[in-house]
Amino acid sequence: MDTIIPLTRHFEFSETISILEISYILASVLFVLGLKKLSHPDTARSGNLWAAAGMGLAILCTILFHKSLVGKGNYEGIHNIPFILVALFIGTFVGWFAAKKVKMTAMPQMVSLFNGMGGACAALISMMEFPKMQTALSILPAHNMLNGEALAILLGLMIGGVSFAGSMIAFGKLDERIGDFKSPVLRYINLSFLFLLLGFVVFIMFRQPVAGETWMIYTLAFLALVYGVTFVLPIGGADMPVVISLLNSFTGVAAAMGGFLYHNQAMLTGGILVGSSGTILTILMCKAMNRSLLNVIIGAFGGSAAAGTQLGDLTVKEITLSDAAILLSYSQKVFIVPGYGLAVAQAQHLCHELDVLLSSKGVIVKYGIHPVAGRMPGHMNVLLAEADVPYEKLMEMEDANNEMGNTDVVIVVGANDVVNPAAEDDPSSPIAGMPVIQAWNAKNVIVMKRSMAKGYAAIENKLFYHPKTRMLFGDAKSTMQKLITEIKSL
Ligand code: NDP
Repeated sequence: MDTIIPLTRHFEFSETISILEISYILASVLFVLGLKKLSHPDTARSGNLWAAAGMGLAILCTILFHKSLVGKGNYEGIHNIPFILVALFIGTFVGWFAAKKVKMTAMPQMVSLFNGMGGACAALISMMEFPKMQTALSILPAHNMLNGEALAILLGLMIGGVSFAGSMIAFGKLDERIGDFKSPVLRYINLSFLFLLLGFVVFIMFRQPVAGETWMIYTLAFLALVYGVTFVLPIGGADMPVVISLLNSFTGVAAAMGGFLYHNQAMLTGGILVGSSGTILTILMCKAMNRSLLNVIIGAFGGSAAAGTQLGDLTVKEITLSDAAILLSYSQKVFIVPGYGLAVAQAQHLCHELDVLLSSKGVIVKYGIHPVAGRMPGHMNVLLAEADVPYEKLMEMEDANNEMGNTDVVIVVGANDVVNPAAEDDPSSPIAGMPVIQAWNAKNVIVMKRSMAKGYAAIENKLFYHPKTRMLFGDAKSTMQKLITEIKSL
């Protein structure tokens, strides 16, 4: 009888169970409502607060009411409360400070970093719980670890470890500290690692546990970390959005394993919400890139950057500010296509000002939003919402493309890969097959960027040399400001 106590002691609650469980259910409801509110810019800010309140409630109630069964009818509250409070304080301060200080352009990196922390937490939980279960089961004769809780522990470590290491590499790539390591060899190494990881989990589960034996759990953690690195390293060019959303869903699933292990509804719901929304986002991103997930993961797509578009002796044409101002003022319909450069220049407010100015002259102004424009899913929507651009003006790529034929001017603001025709007409391009905004179908194209530099996928863009295109060189914010002044002076 006594032998099963260590196995269950961390999963039992005392008479305060009802308050605790009600608080977890309330926290889960707050997560769901928060997520719902996050789906619209007008309510997104409060949605974030609702979800954060749910998390705060779950943490507070756990500290106050959680009790573990430590013997027959004996319950104990949480130990080490001062340490927990200090850790909470440090975590809150670092998170608050980072969120306040981070530049808008560094937001994707920060999201990756925070996502990685979630994965690491889930992995650490598993590393803590595994020895307890191992010790408990080692007492039983001829017993292996073939049970649901052991599976949750091992999967939590495996997925959390991959998510942590992968997110760190994604952070490095988004921050341009780490390049792409494309090699066919890496594809085979990756697949071998994946099978090794899964095989090792099965091996641990079928083995008779030995108390105090640590090599298995450390080996699994090591393999998960190595796989996380080798899995993300070769993925690059334009496929990072898929990886980022996939890593996001991994963290959710890993956290859900913890919720399953501790019978903790808040953790379970939170994990499932993150896991499922990350999976939906991954599917959407795959669709946006016209790739299958398997293709992205094993890196078997497109050509190499070196095999990209050849420009021969094509030349670019420039446009003066006054010509651009006249062209825009006398247009009937204008599309603004924002890209990563908009975020770098922080030109979103001026974009809106230009939109209002042109609209006051009777021009129809809309925004063509590519799903992977910028450096994180929804990046352009966030920026434009911050500048109070009405949501109804944002057209999804497909709708924008349907309207290109009767558009007078497309203004490309700091976008490059998402308007690159090579995606459609150059099968050797690394972005071949990715749907893009077909700016070249409009009557005129004005491109605002600082130079002829390439975009994230590091490939040339023939749109800049297209007969309909004229370049307006300079930082998007200052160029936009000058353009507005010029239009006002007409
Ligand atoms: P790109 O990265 O292709 O191009 C951005 C362009 O902005 C550059 O060519 C740059 O040219 C220009 N730029 C930079 N700073 C400024 C500035 N201050 N003023 C004006 N222009 C500026 O961006 P896109 O949005 O077109 O494409 C996004 C790319 O990022 C895709 O390849 C996508 O797959 C990838 N990606 C997307 C993620 C996501 O989740 N959305 C995540 C990770 C990667 P110049 O230097 O000459 O000014």
